[in-house]
Amino acid sequence: MSYQQTKKRKVGDENRSFDEKWKLDYFFTLVKDKAVCLLCSDSVSLLKEYNVKRHYETKHETNYKNIQSQMQKDQLNQLEKSLKQQ
Ligand SMILES: [Zn+2]
Repeated sequence: MSYQQTKKRKVGDENRSFDEKWKLDYFFTLVKDKAVCLLCSDSVSLLKEYNVKRHYETKHETNYKNIQSQMQKDQLNQLEKSLKQQ
């Protein structure tokens, strides 16, 4: 019995770790071992890129795609500005 439980847990833990790139790619962060969406505070029970990605794609991608690229553009503009000011 206990052997079975241990074995099961081991299998379940495979590949379950938060990847820092999910923060930039999907607006997710890690809170108490759960991946939590920064945009709607929803949590994804499984720490798998597939789940995180699917949440982002189904709920936010259409709304935030433009903002995401806009942020990157702003950052680039900022860098450009500070370079020119030197
Ligand atoms: Zn969300």
